[in-house]
Amino acid sequence: MKNNPFYTQVSIIGAGVSGSALLFILARYTDVASVALFEKCNEPATLNSSAKANSQTLHLGDIETNYDLQKATHVKSSSSMVANFITHFDFEEEIGYRRNKMILAVGDQEIRRLKERYHTFKELFPSMRLWDEKMLAEKEPSLLKERTQKVMAIGVEDQITTVDFHKLSQTFITLAQEEKSTQSTLHFENGIESISKKGDKYLLRTLQGEHLSDIVIVNAGAHSLVFAHQMGYGEAYAMLPIGGGFYFADDVLLKSKVYTMQHPKLPFAAVHADPDLTNGWKTRFGPTAFATPKLENRHHLEILNLFDVLSLDKSVLEVYYDLMKDEDIRNYILQNFVYQLPGVGNNFFISEVQKIIPSLQSEQIHYADGYGGIRPQIIDKINKRLLLGEAKIDTGDGIVFNMTPSPGASSCLGNAYEDAQRICKFLDLEMDRRLLIEELCEQSCIVTRETLK
Ligand SMILES: Cc1cc2nc3c(=O)[nH]c(=O)nc-3n(C[C@H](O)[C@H](O)[C@H](O)COP(=O)(O)OP(=O)(O)OC[C@H]3O[C@@H](n4cnc5c(N)ncnc54)[C@H](O)[C@@H]3O)c2cc1C
Repeated sequence: MKNNPFYTQVSIIGAGVSGSALLFILARYTDVASVALFEKCNEPATLNSSAKANSQTLHLGDIETNYDLQKATHVKSSSSMVANFITHFDFEEEIGYRRNKMILAVGDQEIRRLKERYHTFKELFPSMRLWDEKMLAEKEPSLLKERTQKVMAIGVEDQITTVDFHKLSQTFITLAQEEKSTQSTLHFENGIESISKKGDKYLLRTLQGEHLSDIVIVNAGAHSLVFAHQMGYGEAYAMLPIGGGFYFADDVLLKSKVYTMQHPKLPFAAVHADPDLTNGWKTRFGPTAFATPKLENRHHLEILNLFDVLSLDKSVLEVYYDLMKDEDIRNYILQNFVYQLPGVGNNFFISEVQKIIPSLQSEQIHYADGYGGIRPQIIDKINKRLLLGEAKIDTGDGIVFNMTPSPGASSCLGNAYEDAQRICKFLDLEMDRRLLIEELCEQSCIVTRETLK
């Protein structure tokens, strides 16, 4: 089997940032002999991992008020591996950028919640500072202009906050190919059509032929669940594809990422403002959140696959019903629908934007055509709830399916590390943990360091 050109020990499906990160981890830190990476597009990271699809934020958990302390602890350990990678391999100002970031609280109630959060989270994030109006006026004057309500922020300086996940994916692949002890073969424009078990191996049918592997990791975005269902796995999960769009200001209005306080009842992250690395650092606002009948942005409607992952049975409909019966959530869904309307959406979306920059007017923002992506949000059918993070189906039989809504790009190396551990255990191979800790888990990566010991 070793010399068979259509066999590799490991196959990875999907060359977004998750699949590319796994290829890198396997090639650099394990003694896996051969890995094949299959991607249906002609280059890596053209879908959600493209710099135009996501908010380019390295989510650590400090400014994301939709995370509780437990989630933030987990996200920090995973995401700081990306920051450490960028620093260690010298990609600052090329892939990862140091920009300030903050959570902005508006009005007395939000300020009270912000202060509570500061005290709860400051031990986990010692760089956090409370910024009063005077401080904010110095750092970001546009936040204060024409503002009538009191504001306060938790701010963080001098950290990598902004990442080009497309370039990161390309770099993972390039570095993996430089590792000569692992043979990494790349198969672009070679989508996987089906996966089946053949003896103790997996048979992948691709557009260009067949391929065998001992172990398969499916990192195919929304399609991961389609593959899982086709193979009889993950029946407990359904998917709700949520589109996310953006608006651009005509100018650079902010130097920092400005996140806002999460409404406790709303399921998706509150609108934020981000300096955009693809567009001269102009300020980008979003994302919006709207249910969409597509599995991928800029691709055709795939009716059969869509119906498969929606799995519209009683338990899924109950989750939808629970969401819709809450007035705040109903209004939120309606508003987000209106935000997408061509030509008029900006007149409605401006109210979200003015929470951040009160002086901005609707004619000064425009819909960001060609930007945005689709978050494959998972519904847990057994517990009848919408899961807001990533989900993994580990069959324990040599095939793993990853579903990666936000913060999947930030936690790409953490997830890849977990999968690499599984692969090594399954194939009885070694991982060079010492080198991995040295390169990817410096001081900031507290939890992973402990886990790795
Ligand atoms: C609006 C929005 C904002 C976001 N903001 C952030 C953010 O600021 N920070 C953050 O960390 N995360 C963010 N996310 C989430 C982040 O973009 C994703 O978690 C991440 O990009 C997922 O990477 P992936 O590699 O798992 O999936 P993808 O990037 O979707 O890659 C999947 C790959 O699989 C390939 N594929 C699919 N089917 C097949 C097949 N049959 N054969 C071969 N290949 C196949 C696709 O072509 C694609 O290249 C955001 C997402 C959205 C939508």
